[in-house]
Amino acid sequence: MKVLVHICCAPCSVACIKELRSENVGELCGLWYNPNIHPFTEYKARRLTLVDYAKSIQLPLLTEGEYGLRYFISNIYPDYDNRCDFCYSSRLEYTAKRAKELNLDAFTTTLLISPYQKHELIKQTGERIARETGIEFLYRDFRPLFRQGQDEARELSLYMQKYCGCVFSEEERYRKKKKPIETKPEDEKK
Ligand code: SF4
Repeated sequence: MKVLVHICCAPCSVACIKELRSENVGELCGLWYNPNIHPFTEYKARRLTLVDYAKSIQLPLLTEGEYGLRYFISNIYPDYDNRCDFCYSSRLEYTAKRAKELNLDAFTTTLLISPYQKHELIKQTGERIARETGIEFLYRDFRPLFRQGQDEARELSLYMQKYCGCVFSEEERYRKKKKPIETKPEDEKK
């Protein structure tokens, strides 16, 4: 079987690729297509890390699409809170389309390894696209491998991102860490 593996980032790909290779599922080809990653410097850092990592493990890799802030925002406006639906659909639809054009048999995604993603939504989205395109969605629950893969990525000194990808996830990540502004008793009386 020939499988196109959508890769969200190098660290998440470590355990997924290892697992698929250990299963001998067939020929694997990686695909970088992530218009959801912002800002531009972050997009470049993640993309470059994957290009280098794929070379190091002899994984053929297609790097497609451009930095997509405008595309992403214009498609999720004004329903910012439900943005993940579009984010998963757009990336998996593109992956299935490319798999079909390349005459491959199946597609999958490294998003299936993250315990922080909406796993069921990714699964349902992949299955829907498989029905629509006739390309098999190779579903795996890679989540039990997440910690191991991240540890290995750190040992390899891969660039490790601090947030999911879009500008909204960056805000959520750092707002959570922000300490509440301390007020003095005299301020509270004002
Ligand atoms: S939080 Fe992550 S999955 Fe959801 S829209 Fe942003 S980048 Fe995509």
